[in-house]
Amino acid sequence: MTFAPPLELPGWRHTYSGKVRDLYVPADTRDEAAPARLLVVASDRVSAFDHVLSPGIPDKGVLLTTLSLWWFDQLAGADGGRGIPNHLASDDVLEGDGTAELIPDAVQGRAMLVRSLDMQPIECVVRGYLTGSGWAEYRAEGTVCGIPLPEGLEDGDRLPEPLYTPAFKAPMGEHDENITFERSVELVGAETAAALRDASLEIYRRASATAEAHGLILADTKFEFGFDAEGVLTLADEVLTSDSSRYWDAEAWRTGTTPAERMASFDKQIVRNWLADNWDKQGEPPALPAEIVERTRERYATLLRLLTAS
Ligand code: ATP
Ligand code: MG
Repeated sequence: MTFAPPLELPGWRHTYSGKVRDLYVPADTRDEAAPARLLVVASDRVSAFDHVLSPGIPDKGVLLTTLSLWWFDQLAGADGGRGIPNHLASDDVLEGDGTAELIPDAVQGRAMLVRSLDMQPIECVVRGYLTGSGWAEYRAEGTVCGIPLPEGLEDGDRLPEPLYTPAFKAPMGEHDENITFERSVELVGAETAAALRDASLEIYRRASATAEAHGLILADTKFEFGFDAEGVLTLADEVLTSDSSRYWDAEAWRTGTTPAERMASFDKQIVRNWLADNWDKQGEPPALPAEIVERTRERYATLLRLLTAS
C-alpha cells in the first residue's frame, strides 16, 4: 500500500494515517498517546475490501467531511437536547470564529478539529437491510453475525428489525472481523458493549428517519465511539457518510425488480462491484478506470445534495 506522504501542516505534527484519514497532533504535543486535540484530515483515498485503491476520488475528502459535520449537527440537536455527544472540538469549527484558525488553509473543508478520545476497538455496524457480507452469511447459514433470521429473504430485503452486528477493529493492514455481541462483551466489558449497541441502534433509528424524509434508505452503517476525558461515550470518526454507510434510492427500492434496480446506491458500491468483477483478491488491486472514478464522485456529491437539501 503506497500513500502520498502526508502534508506538512503548520502547527501540527503528523502522527498516523488510516486508509482514508491522516491524523495530526498539535506540534507542541509531548505525549503522543494523549494529545488534547487531533486534526482529522480526510483524503481523497478510497478503500474497498480493506485495500486502498488508486487513483483517489476527486473531492471525496471534502464531501465526506461536509457530510459528517452535517450529520453531527443533526444528531446533536435532535430530540429537544437529548443529543448524541460527538468528538468535534467546537460547534463553530465551520463558522471560522477562533477554532477554524487552527485548521490550516491547505486542508480547509476536509479537516475536523476533534477531541482526542479513548477509542473503543469495535466497529459498531447496524444493518436495517440484508446485503453485502450479511447477505453472503445469510445465504450460507441463515444467520447474520450468528443471529438467526427468517427464511426466504432476498438480497436487499428489509430486516424484521435493525440488527447490531459489531466487528473487531483490526490493526492497520489486517481485516476487520465480524464478531458476536458476546465477543464484544469479552473485548470491552458488558457495560461498554451494551452502551455501544444501544447508542448505535438509537443513532441508526434517528438517521434512517432523516434519510427517509429525503427519499433515501439507510441500508446499513458503521459507527466508531470513544470515551472523552470525563468518561462520556462519544461518537467519533466520520459518521453516516457514503464511505461508512450504504444509501439507496427509496423509490427505486420499492419499484425495482432486480437487486441492481432495487439497490440504486449513493455510496462506494460501484467501486466494490467493479473490483469484484475485475480482481481475484490476490495481490494488489488493479487501478480504477476513469469512468468508475467519475461515477463514484458523482454519487457521493449527489448523496450530499439529496440529504442536505431542505
Ligand atoms: P485504521 O485506523 O485501522 O487504518 P481506517 O482505515 O478506518 O482504520 P481512517 O478512517 O482512515 O482509518 O482513520 C481514522 C482513524 O482515526 C481511525 O483509526 C479512527 O479510529 C481514529 N479516530 C477518529 N476519531 C478519533 C478521535 N476523536 N480520537 C482518536 N482517534 C480517532
Ligand atoms: Mg475509518
